[in-house]
Amino acid sequence: MKKSGKAEIVLKGLSASSGISIGKAYLVDRDSVDIIARYSIPEKGLKSETKRFKSAVQNAKSALRAIVDNSPPELHKASILETHIALLNDKLLYNRTIECIEKERVNAEWALKSVVNQIKAAFMEMPDTYLRERVSDIVHVSDLVMRNLVGAQVQSIGQIDRRVILVARDLSAADTTQINLDRVKAFITDLGGKTSHTGIIAQTLEIPAVVGLEVATRTIQNDDLLIVDGTKGVVIVNPGEATLLEYEEQRASYERYKAVAARESSLKAETIDRHRFDVMANIELPEEVVSATSYGAQGIGLYRTEFQYLSRQVFPSENELYERYKDVVEVMAPRPVTIRTLDINGDKAVRGTADYVEPNPALGLRAIRYCLKRPDVFRTQLRAILRAAAHGNVRLMFPMIAAYFELDLAKRFLDDAAESLEKEGLPYKRDIPIGIMIEVPSAVMIADVLAKEVGFFSIGTNDLIQYGLAIDRGNKQVAHMYQALDPAIIRMIHQTAKVARANRIPVHMCGEMAGRPLHTPLLLGMGLEDLSMHPQAIPLVKRMIRSISLSDAREMVKTVLSLKTARDAFLLLREAYGELIATTRSESAS
Ligand code: PEP
Ligand code: MG
Repeated sequence: MKKSGKAEIVLKGLSASSGISIGKAYLVDRDSVDIIARYSIPEKGLKSETKRFKSAVQNAKSALRAIVDNSPPELHKASILETHIALLNDKLLYNRTIECIEKERVNAEWALKSVVNQIKAAFMEMPDTYLRERVSDIVHVSDLVMRNLVGAQVQSIGQIDRRVILVARDLSAADTTQINLDRVKAFITDLGGKTSHTGIIAQTLEIPAVVGLEVATRTIQNDDLLIVDGTKGVVIVNPGEATLLEYEEQRASYERYKAVAARESSLKAETIDRHRFDVMANIELPEEVVSATSYGAQGIGLYRTEFQYLSRQVFPSENELYERYKDVVEVMAPRPVTIRTLDINGDKAVRGTADYVEPNPALGLRAIRYCLKRPDVFRTQLRAILRAAAHGNVRLMFPMIAAYFELDLAKRFLDDAAESLEKEGLPYKRDIPIGIMIEVPSAVMIADVLAKEVGFFSIGTNDLIQYGLAIDRGNKQVAHMYQALDPAIIRMIHQTAKVARANRIPVHMCGEMAGRPLHTPLLLGMGLEDLSMHPQAIPLVKRMIRSISLSDAREMVKTVLSLKTARDAFLLLREAYGELIATTRSESAS
């Protein structure tokens, strides 16, 4: 029997922030201002037309600034809004619109719209998914200006007065920052990918979120009852009685489990047979350090540095990078901070004019390959890292190493960077652990060769699965095969750990797999040392570590290695450890 008489509909999207929420739908009209008239401006009116545009930009900036100033300090996603404010000053948008008004003698709305369309087209051709998704920042920012130009009312999410689940086509960083946690229980959007800012903010707010649902705003009506399962990336519209009951139970037990884990987050991660592990955080922005620490992070196992290079025309300077890294290093000291060198695609992709589109970007000029081709960019970053290292406990890590010569060259760059700092008399520290990410199958195959050249390995399962199983990380069509517990992946991890042990170097993991408590016994059993994950997962993984015996886990590894499918491995882990976790019944094998 359906509660509302309406049929139960299951919508599948992408998990942006985990947890379960049940509530009424509230549709937010966030469609951009679409119908824009074009009209000519006479010569003598051009000055006041550009002035009108400038003041719309100014108003948009003040509105964003007010949101930044009024957002709670822990929501230091403000830097995303700062990016939006910067975009308003950006030549790309600002100067080109003024230029268009003047050259084509058209109204400001039309000029803005056509400039945005050009920028959008250039961004959409970019090979990197993350960069393609940044187009939404430009759209949100130009929308805000457009609303000021045409005088449209901006619907304020901050004014919602009921406990609801937001349903929107898309939400900007500014929208999400205004969310009142007493009112908004979760949000879901048609657009957005895993790396969208919306998702990043949802994780900070700790509310469930599902993005990329495509048809949510077309399917859902105001006040429809919704279940948002942020862990699985699923939304159930008008659930039947049985589904509702099942999810209510799951939600309650998940909340209880999280509360207990959070209370214990500062405790050591020590197994019952007294083996200690370090549980660390993955961060993208320096501001996340505070929340990482409050979740009990014993260090930063992965600092993804590429976020500081995106959404901007000119790459950051050495000093800018140094200051940002130093902040993180000083806050965390004496705990380690693992700074990963730049992991982006081609420079054209970043600078906004794609004159060369790679046919297979994931197999193209990415990460270390890019850095080795751009010595100027690489050297700047290496110098900044070495300088920041003088302020605390830094580990440096190269991403996507696929061949020996890459590591060899990268290390030479590092030596050169140190030498130049020495000559200039700038303080730095060269004697720091240098590691590599193991995320390409060729690196697993030559791990014995690589191990002799580095201080540690860190396994990046996000890419190891992509490259190992030939599954595009961002392709929904093959997402069912993206399985961390696939026997091929488990064997690669096992092999890497074995080689690391034989060469007496530590082996860590910083891929998503490390943040799944059900996988923890398997990873520790295989010999993984530090595990690094999104900060929210830390209390749960620590709790799992405290509940298990390492010798039992080692025994279990032997059985897992003999299994034929990811499903078999999942069932075995669930049987052995599932009762220690509240959510395993709903977890998928991945
Ligand atoms: C990985 O590939 O597992 C990883 C941690 O790096 P990223 O997700 O940034 O590619
Ligand atoms: Mg990776």
